Amino acid sequence: MNVGVLALQGDFEAHAGALQRAGARVIEVRHASELDVIDGLVIPGGESTSMLRLMEYYGLVEPLRRFGARQPVFGTCAGAILMATEVLNPPQASLGLVDMAVQRNAYGRQLDSRVARLSGHALGGDEEIEAVFIRAPIIRRLGEGAVVLATYEGNPVLVESGLHLAATFHPELSAGSRIHRRFLEKIESCAG
Ligand code: GLN
Repeated sequence: MNVGVLALQGDFEAHAGALQRAGARVIEVRHASELDVIDGLVIPGGESTSMLRLMEYYGLVEPLRRFGARQPVFGTCAGAILMATEVLNPPQASLGLVDMAVQRNAYGRQLDSRVARLSGHALGGDEEIEAVFIRAPIIRRLGEGAVVLATYEGNPVLVESGLHLAATFHPELSAGSRIHRRFLEKIESCAG
C-alpha cells in the first residue's frame, strides 16, 4: 500500500517514519501527479497558513480536494486545520474535507505545548495514547456522523469522519503507531 505524505512544510518526515513502522510504503507528495499513485494521504502538522500558500503555489488545492473526495486523508494539527470546512482565529481557506469548525492556536500562548495521556478505548485497546499538543487547535463544532475517538479536556481531539481521520495533536511524535495503523486499516477497507 502506498501512502502519501504531503511534503511541502512541517513535520512530514516524522509521519513518514511512523507510517513505515506501521507497515506502509511512503511517497512524499509535492506535485499533483503524485496523488495518482497513492492510496491515502497524510497532511502533517506545521503551519497551516504557510502550507496553504504552498498548496496554492503548487496548484494542489483542487487536486487535493478531488483526492479527498474518494480516498482517505489523515490530517494532524495544521493538517486537521486544512481539512476543516471552517477555520477560525483568523478565518482562512481550507480543503473542506471534514465538516467541522476548528479554532487555531486555541489553547493560548501559555500552553504552547504539552503532552497528555488519552483513553485508547475507542481505538480498541486498554493502553492510553500519548498526545503531543503543539500550538494546537480546538474543534469547536463537529458535523453529524463524525465519530469522536478521543477527547481531551472535553473537546474532541481525534475524529473519524467518513473516509478521513483528523487529530489536533501529533501522533507522529510518539513512539506507538496505533493511530497510524488505524489510518492504514481505513485505506485497506476503502480499497477493498
Ligand atoms: N498553530 C499551527 C497552525 O495554526 C498548527 C500547529 C501545529 O501543526 N503543530 O497552523
